[in-house]
Amino acid sequence: MTATHGWTIDDEPDLTPTEPPPSPKQQQFITDLAAEVHGDDADTYLARLTADGRWTRQHASTVIEELLDARSRMTRPETTVPEGLHHTDGQIYRVKRSAASGNLYTTALNPKTGKWDYTGRKPLAHLDEGTTLTVEAARAWGVNYGICCVCGRTLTDPTSVNRGIGPICETRL
Ligand SMILES: [Zn+2]
Repeated sequence: MTATHGWTIDDEPDLTPTEPPPSPKQQQFITDLAAEVHGDDADTYLARLTADGRWTRQHASTVIEELLDARSRMTRPETTVPEGLHHTDGQIYRVKRSAASGNLYTTALNPKTGKWDYTGRKPLAHLDEGTTLTVEAARAWGVNYGICCVCGRTLTDPTSVNRGIGPICETRL
């Protein structure tokens, strides 16, 4: 029912031929920011940006604003995420500070292997004091997967299986 608004898809301005392309400075800034914000996914992200062929200076400045915003959300948790174990969206995360870089990073407990998989900095955006692992959450997770989520060991002792956590590990929470 576009006719009632006097605006149809055909009226949409085609910016491609007239709008100037992003400046080299913008391109560089976006490349740098994308690497910070998207890490290993930066190339995919950048490819998607230019995929629709309407890669203009105006578009680029919007992208820069979005990336700056995303970066500020990423840096916020640095001071507010406590190190140690966290639980969110059914995942157990361990937050640690890298001795090399001084930055926080995460690993996630893989319920299939009982191993901690490196998950980088992205999950930090979803973690805070409120996601700190509680004994209750640890038990529920352990009962569900049969793994102690503090040490990653398979629970075998019947008491521990029922409690969902090893006796020593429970004291560490
Ligand atoms: Zn344990």
